[in-house]
Amino acid sequence: MREVFRRIYGASPEGIWAAPGRVNLIGEHTDYNDGFALPIALTQNTLVAARKRQDGRLRLHSAQGDGPVIDLHVDRLTPGAVTTWGAYPAGVVWALREAGHRFGGADLHIDSTVPTGAGLSSSAALECAVAFAYNDLYGLGLSPSALALIGQRAENGFAGVPCGAMDQLASACCTAGAALHLDIRAGTHQQVPFDPGAQGMSLLVVDTRVKHDLGDGAYAALRAGCERAARLLGLTALRDLTPADLPRATRALPAHLVPLVRHVVTENARVTEAVSLLRAGHLAALGPILTDGHASLRDDFRISCAESDLVVSTALAHGALGARMTGGGFGGSVIVLAEEARVEVIGAAVIAAFPAAGYQAPYLFPVSPAEGARRIA
Ligand code: ADP
Ligand code: MG
Repeated sequence: MREVFRRIYGASPEGIWAAPGRVNLIGEHTDYNDGFALPIALTQNTLVAARKRQDGRLRLHSAQGDGPVIDLHVDRLTPGAVTTWGAYPAGVVWALREAGHRFGGADLHIDSTVPTGAGLSSSAALECAVAFAYNDLYGLGLSPSALALIGQRAENGFAGVPCGAMDQLASACCTAGAALHLDIRAGTHQQVPFDPGAQGMSLLVVDTRVKHDLGDGAYAALRAGCERAARLLGLTALRDLTPADLPRATRALPAHLVPLVRHVVTENARVTEAVSLLRAGHLAALGPILTDGHASLRDDFRISCAESDLVVSTALAHGALGARMTGGGFGGSVIVLAEEARVEVIGAAVIAAFPAAGYQAPYLFPVSPAEGARRIA
């Protein structure tokens, strides 16, 4: 990392920062409804080597981004001006400026092991790594959750993706050995012990390696649908509904909004139940909650796809405790919770099922909760 930085920029970096990707155990499409989520950080990280510049130039290079060094200026960043991958790191600097912070330029070199576009939040990992680097380089004194919200602002306002805050909060605030119970409205989070290995279980991520184009516009449309339903019900956000309110909400809403509301309300309840079970040490009981969550995303939110459904059904048929698609939908990754002794059989079955269905090979890896963003050198 240092050597590559020196080759590109002709000087040594002042430090290296890391921010992980994430998988969400449960609580999908709930963050922009002011609700709850329960992500863990991955061991895969995005690294940023960085050095301050006195002349205000912001230079960006990524081992994964195609093209040469992107050369910008911190005082001349406007949304829409950067349309490549550079919009994510440049957006972070823009969002820090928008928040009123004063600082100069920087040279940044990025390298990552987080798969991109796989629903594992490589975008949030990139934003958080850059935000943490800038925070330290210029002594801005922002907390991890404040830096996460800067990352979200960058993605919403500069990169043009209307995401909620879950991904960035996961990357910034997760700790090893725990899932992060997020309450988006309250702006709070708590660590919930989550250690499948200690209980003879394993959490497997299956990256389907597909990303269906439908996803881009659909996310914004789903978010708009949820916000419209909340307005029609006279609520600030769907977070304000409990499962007991569903019959009344169903009568009051146009039919096409009902499944959206049902997903968000039942999904928030699933997060609460999952947290209670984990706190009580009943990790295996998480399985059916994951599987219910998948059915809700598939049937009510309609954002699963044949590949993700195939992973879930194959895993369950071979003895998984539970499985569900994770991330924004339309492809990406699936998580599978299983007893350690079943993992090999389940993995082999999933790997065999894909070519049999005419799909390209998926990418499987086990995960345990890793630590969030930090300076590493
Ligand atoms: P996800 O966050 O699930 O991986 P997104 O579509 O939200 O998927 O973000 C992926 C995009 O983020 C990439 O297309 C690229 O523009 C940017 N990105 C993520 N990681 C890197 C990286 N290491 N280098 C350059 N760009 C990256
Ligand atoms: Mg993303």
